[in-house]
Amino acid sequence: MTYKELYKKGLQLLKSSGIETYLLDARILLEYAGNLSRTALFIQENTFVPLSIQEKYYQFLHQRALSKPISRIKGEKEFWSLSFLLNEDTLDPRPDSEILIEAILNVTHKAQKFSILDLGTGSGCLLIALLHERPYAYGVGVDISLNALHQAYENAHRHNCANRCVFVQSHWFEKIKGQFDIIISNPPYIDKQAQLPKDVLYDPPTALFAENNGYAAYEVIIPQAKNYLLPQGSLYVEIGYGQSEKIISLFSRNNYDQISAF
Ligand code: GLN
Repeated sequence: MTYKELYKKGLQLLKSSGIETYLLDARILLEYAGNLSRTALFIQENTFVPLSIQEKYYQFLHQRALSKPISRIKGEKEFWSLSFLLNEDTLDPRPDSEILIEAILNVTHKAQKFSILDLGTGSGCLLIALLHERPYAYGVGVDISLNALHQAYENAHRHNCANRCVFVQSHWFEKIKGQFDIIISNPPYIDKQAQLPKDVLYDPPTALFAENNGYAAYEVIIPQAKNYLLPQGSLYVEIGYGQSEKIISLFSRNNYDQISAF
């Protein structure tokens, strides 16, 4: 079978499984199975596909047909134009979280030396994207999962900033000492009762769900962060859709000033 014929089979399989992005996904997975760039695939579309690649392709197609995201199949996702390796204990980085990065870049400049604490670092995407943009910044990535921290460290290494960060296993602030210029977190904030699309179920539940209708992590982070911020420091948290009113009131009850949500 040629690559072109195999691709057609892939299209049919994903389309009949109800995968809306079947056109793109069938191609990306074939490139991945064959370790080919888009151009290389195009050039050799009429050559025969080795059996081992066909087998790999079918494995990937069957996973995708069950709604497994491409990033989970590949174990890799792009965030802030950098590629992050994922494992079963890390959240699949979402483009929405890039807003946090932009917000921090807007209030800092390239030559600035400052410290960052990233709570629930997961793949490390937030901390590493910031260190990548701010070459004099340094930071600490915290996670409860050692497996996530291994992945974050590997990602830091990949993006040449492993010498400016350390990773600590801790439940939020429990093992943290010192004070920081910036604390960031994209904590779990989904209500345990929420109905989620199938692809989200491939993310680790501890990275998604929180008690108290999704507010439990904020109820720890927001009050305690004050003790870990330098006098002019700031706390940035990602929040879920519809959570801003409660979160703003949690910030103001804890005497933060200049609170804003966007
Ligand atoms: N900080 C990581 C991210 O934004 C992990 C977040 C999480 O696991 N909730 O992707």
